Amino acid sequence: MARYLGPVCKLCRREAGKLYLKGDRCFTEKCAVTRRPYPPGQHGQGRIKLSEYGLRLREKQKMRRIYGLLERQFSRYYAQASGMKGRTGEEMLGLIERRLDNVVYRMGFAVSRRQGRQLVRHSHILVNGKHVNIPSFVVKPNDKIELHEKSRKIAYVAASLAAAENKQRPTWVDVDKENLAGVFRGLPVREELNEPMVREQYVVEYYSR
Ligand code: SF4
Repeated sequence: MARYLGPVCKLCRREAGKLYLKGDRCFTEKCAVTRRPYPPGQHGQGRIKLSEYGLRLREKQKMRRIYGLLERQFSRYYAQASGMKGRTGEEMLGLIERRLDNVVYRMGFAVSRRQGRQLVRHSHILVNGKHVNIPSFVVKPNDKIELHEKSRKIAYVAASLAAAENKQRPTWVDVDKENLAGVFRGLPVREELNEPMVREQYVVEYYSR
């Protein structure tokens, strides 16, 4: 599946807030949103008044960019969620949170979802003892995620785990740092997923207009 290859800081500036797409850099003064807190482009510093549609479009783009998904894949999650029993927005978030690249990131093995995706694509990750190299693989409760033995010396994994020490660990994953393994306990409740804030109701309204 294709992925976005352009500059990611531009995406944060377009959405007028930090989407935390670059790992440690996002927490420093070098962050582009801190240095240039206005949208990119020639008219970035002009006044922008969003229409109702524009507001929903921006919210949809923000959520899509946080999780690093292209439009076709993202809209498929909406279609899948709209056929489910619960609230569409929450079901959609739940489906995306269970992606393997996201779970690897949540466990702290990668500093960003992009890096998590790279770990998965390069076959460094085992799910319940088997190689899985599909970033969109859906993780189930109690699945065991671990780094392959040959991949345990990757420097950025150790750096990422060290950086994760200073952040609050999600409650829905258990991580064994010594053995570079973790267990996905189950889906988080909505309130735990507010970093950075996503208004999924607007996303649903965008697609159901
Ligand atoms: Fe770049 Fe991270 Fe700042 Fe976004 S939050 S602008 S990705 S440094």
